[in-house]
Amino acid sequence: MEKDFMALGVSEALQKGLAAQRITVPTPIQEKMIPAIAGGQDVIGRSETGSGKTLAYLLPLFMKIDPQVRGTQIMVLTPTHELAAQVHRQAELLAQNSGLDIRSALIIGTAGIRRQMERLKEKPQIVVGSTGRILDLIRKKKIQAHLVKTIVLDEGDRLMDDGNLASVEAVIKTTLRDRQLVLLSASVSEEAEKRARGLMKENVMFVEGGAQTGAVPENIDHYFILTAPREKFVMLRKVLAGEKPEKAMVFLNNPENIEVTVDKLCYHGIAAAGIYGLAGKTDRKNALEDFRAGRVRVLVASDIGARGLDIPGVTHVINLDIPEDPTHYLHRAGRCGRQQAKGTAISIVTPYERRWIHKYEKAWGLKFRQKDMVGGKLADSTKTKKDLEKKGGKQPAGASGGKKKAAAPKPPFAKRKK
Ligand code: AMP
Repeated sequence: MEKDFMALGVSEALQKGLAAQRITVPTPIQEKMIPAIAGGQDVIGRSETGSGKTLAYLLPLFMKIDPQVRGTQIMVLTPTHELAAQVHRQAELLAQNSGLDIRSALIIGTAGIRRQMERLKEKPQIVVGSTGRILDLIRKKKIQAHLVKTIVLDEGDRLMDDGNLASVEAVIKTTLRDRQLVLLSASVSEEAEKRARGLMKENVMFVEGGAQTGAVPENIDHYFILTAPREKFVMLRKVLAGEKPEKAMVFLNNPENIEVTVDKLCYHGIAAAGIYGLAGKTDRKNALEDFRAGRVRVLVASDIGARGLDIPGVTHVINLDIPEDPTHYLHRAGRCGRQQAKGTAISIVTPYERRWIHKYEKAWGLKFRQKDMVGGKLADSTKTKKDLEKKGGKQPAGASGGKKKAAAPKPPFAKRKK
């Protein structure tokens, strides 16, 4: 039987806060994670994308915070600035709607350190951000790590990779030994789990979300369209014209191609914005805000846009390049179909890339359907490599372009939002 938040021990104030967000029934991962974290053990939680993991940890941790005590009691580490900003916003909203005097600070690398130091003077109980900057501020004695009760590693498998592990470890080491460690993700590889357990206490609790044990929600349809490499962009335009997505995220592997793709879409009258690591902080923020607000309906992104971002109303995820790693596919596709909404993930693949579709099917137990654009509509297809060769001759394998930037056509009108 479904439990409600009261049965899970969530305080009345927090229930009121949730109700203001129209949240009344816990999701399966929340049902399991809330008591696990409240129990004080170290926890590894795995649950499909969009299943409510943020509140699954924020709720029990809000109850652990002593509002009378000023200083960092909870630390949330994330692999991207965008995700940190999202968690911080949710924490502030929850505090405000619940009438609790709990404060959160967003501590990320690209933002001004002075302002962050000012914010830290207010001694917020929650610090959310990127490991590098947090570590820096701990060393500058602006964050007092000795009060930390719990560290959350959100999208924790990414934080356990070679590029992040050392700095995560360094942050953990600044806190007291009896603090709690919580790791969450939709995908937890054996290696990531092993590394996480290496940082945790002995009796780790492993929690998996709910009835649907898969990592990808069942409400997402997975399609692929076979196309010649040089026709990929035309196919993308056809898909956007035919499907008329309310909000679509288009993924590329090479961040260097994002700006050109945005320019090309805008040139063709499709309001688009781009988000990628090398873009300036303000550009990244504006692109995301424009997309959230519906001012642009297409967001072209690299994999930094694939982790944890919760943008309501994303109906389509389109892979213009497809990732070799099935984990990347899972996180990209998971940007649509959040909280039981319907989602469509379409991969535009060359005959060479088709093999990865089989890899995803195997890795996540998915069933892909082959589609094509016929008469402006998405229709079932049996098109083969031979059909493509007949039509356009053999093409070299490759995706949306190599490293070299193609000259961007000048947008004829100022549609582009950055
Ligand atoms: P997350 O997986 O944490 O990114 O959450 C995905 C979305 O689900 C967010 O927009 C949350 O506000 C929403 N959400 C979280 N918990 C619930 C719930 N119990 N009922 C309805 N929506 C929820």
